[in-house]
Amino acid sequence: MDKVVNLCKRRGFVFPGSEIYGGMASSWDYGPLGVELKNNIKKLWWKKFVQERDDMVGIDAALIMNPKVWEASGHLKNFTDPLVECKKCHSRFRADQTSGLIYSEKKLDSGMAEQILSLVPETKCPECNEMWILDKTLETPKQFNLMFKTFIGPAEESANIAYFRPETAQGMFVDFKNVLNTTRKKIPFGIAQIGKAFRNEITPGNFIFRTREFEQMEIEYFIRETDWKKSFEYWLEEMKKWMKLIGLKDEDLHFAEIPDDERAHYSKRTIDIEYKFPFGQDELYGIAYRGDFDLKNHQEKSGQDLSYQDLLSGEKFLPHVIEPTFGVDRTFLAVLLAAYKEEPAKSAEGEDEERVVLKLPQEIAPVQVAILPLSKKDELSSVAQKIAQDLRKNLVVEYDETQSIGKRYRRQDEIGTPFCVTVDFDSLQDEAVTIRERDSMKQERIKIKELENYLSEKFK
Ligand code: ATP
Repeated sequence: MDKVVNLCKRRGFVFPGSEIYGGMASSWDYGPLGVELKNNIKKLWWKKFVQERDDMVGIDAALIMNPKVWEASGHLKNFTDPLVECKKCHSRFRADQTSGLIYSEKKLDSGMAEQILSLVPETKCPECNEMWILDKTLETPKQFNLMFKTFIGPAEESANIAYFRPETAQGMFVDFKNVLNTTRKKIPFGIAQIGKAFRNEITPGNFIFRTREFEQMEIEYFIRETDWKKSFEYWLEEMKKWMKLIGLKDEDLHFAEIPDDERAHYSKRTIDIEYKFPFGQDELYGIAYRGDFDLKNHQEKSGQDLSYQDLLSGEKFLPHVIEPTFGVDRTFLAVLLAAYKEEPAKSAEGEDEERVVLKLPQEIAPVQVAILPLSKKDELSSVAQKIAQDLRKNLVVEYDETQSIGKRYRRQDEIGTPFCVTVDFDSLQDEAVTIRERDSMKQERIKIKELENYLSEKFK
């Protein structure tokens, strides 16, 4: 993990947020390479799940929605995490995520939860080392609401309270009727959205794994109730295909079937897709069958008819929903961890050394081709610059003429660039360049005029 975090900082993938002011707890900025990688992940997801399909459309809803949305969705009441406080140092922890604490929640029919907490003997506060005794040195859990509050307009009055959305999903339910009326989609169909979400997490951490501001890619897939099992299986398979596409290995994934008494009361099936992160196995994505819970609540609270009418049979009903949900930042982290490799290699002088290489899938690599003239001399750089300019029309190109060629190859390996093109003095005579492939390090001589075709073939 430390190696990946260091690489992120060193090469400009992710920086600590507001660093010149000493940073800010769990706030991270995506740097020049990070924003490319993150955008590529989002673009690929959108292409696969929206643009390549006839049964999906996208939206981009407001971040701050009418607070009634969160009343109807249950977030204002139930979007909580169990919080415990050490009575000695007053540090706060999540009861379900602190070692030594055994916490479980039993969902009651009312939607409320019964909280059960016990302690492994000899458990001490991770901050002040006080021995924890329930109700004496450790408070019983309280439910802490994760919604981020703000005020609309100049007056900070309760009537003006609003919330930053804690998930993108509600946008799809609130816009369901508008989407239906404007696109005339027939069930089954889905609405997708990519965007920021905010949660006032009690214990953010593990780099970009858990932050208070993050991005999600979510799908609400609207179906007939009778189809839920089939549709759930189908979307689980689609999620597996996606994970393969972005380079995640089966052996690093775990599919945790959430038992009845831990699931939300309206869900008949939920699977947490966990990734084996270096700090432990934890949730990467989720898939849930949400029944008609959301549309039903919004229909009730808004007084609007949100039902779907089948044009052929005239049948009218509230669709049920399968929700595959993907965190962008956790995808980014898992993709980097899966791609990071240390391998034996030879230096330009033929000596044994180790190279760090990000074996990113070509589709999401932040830089696709690096153009590396062997020297800064004008006659080489003019040819190399022309090649870079021509390739930029279709590919993301980096031009680099500093340092030795060996160091430049290492740098491109470290940021995951699939191809390096070296322009040398022979290029002036034979009008050819050397292409080096990142993973195999194989080199090939290609005519400059064939380069564009050659690369577009490789990126197909
Ligand atoms: P966790 O149990 O880790 O808090 P969750 O079950 O509350 O997550 P969901 O509400 O299912 O998460 O959110 C959907 C997805 O959004 C998650 O699978 C994850 O990828 C991402 N996500 C949720 N919370 C955060 C966060 N604080 N920081 C980064 N990504 C997050």
